[in-house]
Amino acid sequence: MGGDFSLNYQPEEIYDVIIIGAGPAGSTAALYTARAGLKTLVLYRAEADGALGVTQKIENYPGVPGPISGYELLKIMREQAKSFGAQFVRGKVIATDLTGEIKKVYTIDGREFRGKTVIIASGAMERANKFKGEEEFLGRGVSYCGVCDAAFFKDQPVAVIGEDDYGVEEAEFIARFASKVYFVVPGSRIKAPPEVVEEFKNLPNVEILLRHRVIEIVGDQVVKGLKVKDLNAKEEKILEVNGVFIFLGGTKPSVDFLMGQVEMTDDHCVVVNEEMMTSIPGVFAAGDVLCTNIKQAVIAAADGCKAALAVDKFINKKAKITSQW
Ligand SMILES: Cc1cc2nc3c(=O)[nH]c(=O)nc-3n(C[C@H](O)[C@H](O)[C@H](O)COP(=O)(O)OP(=O)(O)OC[C@H]3O[C@@H](n4cnc5c(N)ncnc54)[C@H](O)[C@@H]3O)c2cc1C
Repeated sequence: MGGDFSLNYQPEEIYDVIIIGAGPAGSTAALYTARAGLKTLVLYRAEADGALGVTQKIENYPGVPGPISGYELLKIMREQAKSFGAQFVRGKVIATDLTGEIKKVYTIDGREFRGKTVIIASGAMERANKFKGEEEFLGRGVSYCGVCDAAFFKDQPVAVIGEDDYGVEEAEFIARFASKVYFVVPGSRIKAPPEVVEEFKNLPNVEILLRHRVIEIVGDQVVKGLKVKDLNAKEEKILEVNGVFIFLGGTKPSVDFLMGQVEMTDDHCVVVNEEMMTSIPGVFAAGDVLCTNIKQAVIAAADGCKAALAVDKFINKKAKITSQW
């Protein structure tokens, strides 16, 4: 199960490449950069996360007849990258400083990572809309980070709004502190591996509320409750909680951490040249974050390969991209 927040990296290290995202784009990029002898770090949010991570069944990835869950396929990709020396570290990226020669990447738990190049492979599963009360109570009961804020809710009831492995991993961590965790799922199931859901269900202080639509976060100075609609019983109720943690996905590119530093389209899609380089030299992008019209794992993987070979060219000052045999 996730929750690995160990610092299995060296903070003084300058990586050749930091890859943000461990989906097919990021994992494939890591395989290629690590195999090219480049010191490679991959940062990712949660184990079965991203578009492929939440896919129940895939049977069109070449070489893997399937059907196989997206998460199982991801594990194979990641193991292959790790076998060449790529390091995978869990951490949600919230900010970057990409303008200097050494790029800086910051995670939500306060760590700083430094690299000569960056590949943005964070997919397109960001939420576009906010809940009523979300902005008003941000930092006053509303949070997007279990590791950062769970301890503030020791022995208090909280709601965690989620739907997949990312939400479950965070909720499990929060449940170590909170007296009670209402896990509010808008849909009819949790999109996470069955064994993960089973383990989660068995936590004594967790109550899973499927098919509950969030209406509003309520309170005065601080959060006092979460108003939800039970779509089965067709009734509204207020969960009396002191904290609301939100870990939901959407379809927007996950690029907030770029803070407008690289050129993007009006729809927040990252713009790259034919070598997958963004408007900032040394910063590349691959996969769904580019909003290519065909969103498929094999295409994201191919993008990751191209970005990795472009990183190799950039770092080793090659005249042109060379294939890897
Ligand atoms: C329901 C569904 C079914 C699908 N079925 C198929 C199929 O059958 N066949 C097929 O080929 N394709 C399928 N796809 C499409 C395919 O899954 C995507 O095109 C592909 O996963 C995109 O890869 P990616 O690496 O760009 O992004 P993703 O797979 O979305 O991976 C994004 C990665 O970025 C990480 N990340 C995001 N934000 C941050 C952050 N702030 N900090 C750190 N890490 C971050 C995530 O943890 C994740 O590791 C499906 C997609 C969905 C949603």
